[in-house]
Amino acid sequence: MWTGAAVALAVLALASAVAGLFGGAIAALITFIAGGLLMHGYHLRNVQRLVEWTRAPVGTPIPPARGTWNLVFADLNRRSRLSYEMREQLASSLERFRDASQAMPDGILYLSADDRIEWMNHKAEQHFGLEAGRDCGLPVTKLVRQPDFVRFMHDGGQAASLVLHSDRRAGLTLMIQIVPFGDGQRMVVSRDISQLERLDTMRRDFVANVSHELRTPLTVVIGFLETLVDGLEEFRPDEVKHYVRLALDQSLRMETLIEDLLTLAALESGASAGEQRVAVSPLVLDIAEDARLLSAGRHEVSLDIAVGDGDVVVLGSAKELRSAFANLASNAVRYTPAGGTIRLSWRRVDGGAEFAVEDNGIGIEPRHIPRLTERFYRADLGRSRESGGTGLGLAIVKHILSRHDAELHVESEYGKGSRFSARFPAARLAQPPVQS
Ligand code: ADP
Repeated sequence: MWTGAAVALAVLALASAVAGLFGGAIAALITFIAGGLLMHGYHLRNVQRLVEWTRAPVGTPIPPARGTWNLVFADLNRRSRLSYEMREQLASSLERFRDASQAMPDGILYLSADDRIEWMNHKAEQHFGLEAGRDCGLPVTKLVRQPDFVRFMHDGGQAASLVLHSDRRAGLTLMIQIVPFGDGQRMVVSRDISQLERLDTMRRDFVANVSHELRTPLTVVIGFLETLVDGLEEFRPDEVKHYVRLALDQSLRMETLIEDLLTLAALESGASAGEQRVAVSPLVLDIAEDARLLSAGRHEVSLDIAVGDGDVVVLGSAKELRSAFANLASNAVRYTPAGGTIRLSWRRVDGGAEFAVEDNGIGIEPRHIPRLTERFYRADLGRSRESGGTGLGLAIVKHILSRHDAELHVESEYGKGSRFSARFPAARLAQPPVQS
């Protein structure tokens, strides 16, 4: 302001000097030209500052100017600050949005209107075997070339979703959906449904197995009954009795199967095994007695209890433990030919305790061992059926043991015999109360 006034004064002084020398008209002309030049210089300087500012990094304020330009610069500064703050806010919202997209359990690919990948999260990189740095900007169907996927993309995702079995990672199954957004853009969402699919396959196999297991004895029962209905009067009473006995055996087999299925269902849906103090020594004495009854003198059954001072109790469910131990003992009897030996033991091991059943029976080939606890898995189907097996015994044992934090160990040599043991950790054991 002051400099402006000084310049005006200088121009006036110059004008009066010139007026003294050359007279009024020329003085006015020279004064006008000098004033114009000064004004021109003033504007030029500020325009130059404006240009310099536009080239400076975003956010740099314009230095203050004089006169009218100061008002212009102040206004520009204010607008530029506002737009800078807005941009910062947008950038941080975008950053948060990307963080959220990265944290999503699903894969996300953002596509441009011509289906080029604009952005992807880590899950999408894993699902489709892509790399953001390398693949962004490329058409998605040139990168994921599985025909089903390409067709789905070209159809515009008209079907609600696509189930895609990845050809890059064995066992990976994805559910793909297309979500349109913005101006003709699309988002591809991929979800890993491998686990769900495995469960679904297991469920289907299970239903098929149960139906098969029930149908076999049912067919036999129906066959017998039809034979009897068609010619009851032709059969002698002892023949009728024989057929009815066979039908009864098959019905009992179905009943056992249903009982085992109900036990499994109860174990799966039930709460924890509980904290009953189960005295194991008397329990295994009973189990050994039952095994002798089942063997009916065909095997030598022995029991060895070595738990040190007094008994050790297991915290859990007496009913479940009885069922698990009885299953192992009856398997030993059923899979050991007559004349064999079966040895039951209950002893302390490495701070914990172990119930084991050892036999010198038919043994199991190594390839079957990892699968024995699967429902309906049998290493020896003929012998299992013949001896009334359901194929569910070891599945039940495994469930019960895991409810007691215990583990099932199987050692076996084909043709020589097997050893099944249930190992309980120290945390599941307690000393029995002192008898008064
Ligand atoms: P199952 O009712 O058929 O006996 P399990 O689940 O109890 O069913 O056992 C699964 C399979 O493991 C059996 O079919 C059998 O082939 C094998 N198995 C179990 N125990 C023994 C054993 N002590 N000796 C040999 N094979 C055994």
